[in-house]
Amino acid sequence: MTPPAAVINDRGSARWRAGYPWVYRTELLGFEGAPPAPAQIVAVRDRRGRELGWADHSEPSRIALRRLSGDPAETVDDEFFRRRLAAALAYREELRLDSNAYRVVAGEADGLPGLIADRYGDDLVVQALTAAMDARLPRLAAALRGALGAGRMFERNDLKVRRLEGLELRAGELGPDGRRLAAGGSSAAPAWAEARIGGLEFRFDLLGGQKTGGFLDQRENWAAVAAYAHPGCEALDAFCYQGGFALHLARRGARVEAADLSRPALELAEANAQRNGLENIELVEANAFDLLRHYDETGRRFDLIVLDPPAFAKNRSALPAAARGYKEINLRAFRLLRPGGVLAACSCSHHVSADALLEWIAAAAADARREAVLLERRGQARDHPVLLAMPETEYLKCFLLRVR
Ligand code: SAH
Repeated sequence: MTPPAAVINDRGSARWRAGYPWVYRTELLGFEGAPPAPAQIVAVRDRRGRELGWADHSEPSRIALRRLSGDPAETVDDEFFRRRLAAALAYREELRLDSNAYRVVAGEADGLPGLIADRYGDDLVVQALTAAMDARLPRLAAALRGALGAGRMFERNDLKVRRLEGLELRAGELGPDGRRLAAGGSSAAPAWAEARIGGLEFRFDLLGGQKTGGFLDQRENWAAVAAYAHPGCEALDAFCYQGGFALHLARRGARVEAADLSRPALELAEANAQRNGLENIELVEANAFDLLRHYDETGRRFDLIVLDPPAFAKNRSALPAAARGYKEINLRAFRLLRPGGVLAACSCSHHVSADALLEWIAAAAADARREAVLLERRGQARDHPVLLAMPETEYLKCFLLRVR
């Protein structure tokens, strides 16, 4: 049976040839052969009938096609997906990570559009962001579990973007076959996992935590920032979540104040500090904006400040407000730093470019009348690879600066 072929316009095929893995509905001219089923694999052709490769088709989404293969001669079958998973695993092996918590599969950047898999020690968390991936998720999850020798497996298919694919939102434990456990359980119940990162032990809540439980994309930045901490220095981690930066700083002997708005996050950070015998972390439940202003006004000073806020710009129209937010916190941080102090300024919003963020940071330094030098331009951890032809896959920015 020949699969249907999607015919795309010149703009779509130019982008496809440049390596961009998505084809928007506006670039889709139509189908040859029987119309595809909602999440079927389709051949992709340009207007002149030239074969471009294979893609997952999505019926409801604005993103009509997601590239599986740019090779028309390749057969996209179970073996194809096994090869892609094996390549993703081999890449992580090659990284020789100082951790057993890492992203095993990073969607488009691993040639598996819409599939995310994170490993936390013995446990695995998977996400399918498209209808086609959702349909094959049990098979792929079971294969991953086998390849990693993982224990429990969970799905965090509770992301709102799934609605754009007509998918339901759900979270819970999966059986060894990758299917939902019949018992189901409530997604609100925590699922604790333990993982080792840079010689520290961390606990994650795989069902109740943010993302798939933690911000593994920041893992390498935790260590990079800690390299600037020294015994007795005073550090502030203003959006600490479960303590990634704070614990790494404390282990270097810094006296750390770790703040977050979320009580469960602070409780987890506290448990993580205790577990590692770190007594030099003080946890503060606070809105970072208020806290930074308060310290500015009361003259409290620090040697190192980490700003890793949630994405202020969830879409393009939120950019002006996001710019104000980033400028505000960075301005305060510059004012709070002692001479020679270090600022780690992060943004995980892919709508905010590295250049834009750096411009706002520069403006904040100028307003604070501080001279700053850029020490390091960092991004997401290497197990979250960036697909060169898809700028959206490079979403995390982390600039390290020193003030004079
Ligand atoms: N730095 C963390 C990740 C931080 S995610 C890590 O590397 O793991 C952003 C955190 O900011 C979340 O924990 C969220 O609860 C918290 N948060 C959101 N708005 C906040 C605010 N206004 N003040 C303080 N914390 C906030």
